[in-house]
Amino acid sequence: MNSSPLCAPLPVLLLVSAPSGAGKTTVCQGLLAAQPALARAITCTTRPPRAGEEEGRDYYFLSPAEFERRVRQGEFLEHAEVYGYRYGTLRAEVRRRLETGQDVLLNIDVQGAASVRAAASDDALLRSALVTVFLTTSSLEELARRLAGRATDSPETIQRRLAVARSELAKAPDFDYLLISGTMEEDRRRLETIYQAEKLRSSRVPLPDLAGPGGIG
Ligand code: 5GP
Repeated sequence: MNSSPLCAPLPVLLLVSAPSGAGKTTVCQGLLAAQPALARAITCTTRPPRAGEEEGRDYYFLSPAEFERRVRQGEFLEHAEVYGYRYGTLRAEVRRRLETGQDVLLNIDVQGAASVRAAASDDALLRSALVTVFLTTSSLEELARRLAGRATDSPETIQRRLAVARSELAKAPDFDYLLISGTMEEDRRRLETIYQAEKLRSSRVPLPDLAGPGGIG
């Protein structure tokens, strides 16, 4: 009987997008806590840190000039403007993890998801790893209710976010999975199910060694 351990499955790049207010950050934090094999890719932004946010843990906070320099150097896998600030995913941040077999969670907006999908079309490592999930509420009314419940946004900001959400929703069919938000716990469990099933996809799991003593070869 060949008892040598199987090689590790190929890594997953789990990309999660959602309209602002759908609860993506909380769900992603829950998944990360439950799945230690999954690491969040830290992304860059030009927006100032919010209270409690830390450099290198929540984001790499860059000045607009530094962000632009990195754009010109081609360091970003994707970058986009979201609500007046620039955001971008460093190519190296994602690749160095995938190259060592580490699963990566990427929490970016819908424009960024489209760019990563395009980049993956001619990058074998990204293509084999990429799994995209769109998380949304069951209706715009429910999203409006959640945004109002956050009490961090003015009524004008909420209206602007709902208008953007409407156009983001139209992009839902481009994603591999559509997760209609229920309770926080349900959302986390469903996202975890997607992740675990993707780890078992036959294209990711190395075939057991069926040759040799005790095998069928
Ligand atoms: P926030 O400023 O609230 O942390 O994030 C605003 C939005 O920007 C969220 O939808 C978040 O997922 C998205 N975001 C964060 N990092 C990136 C990134 O690197 N690229 C893109 N395209 N969006 C990002």
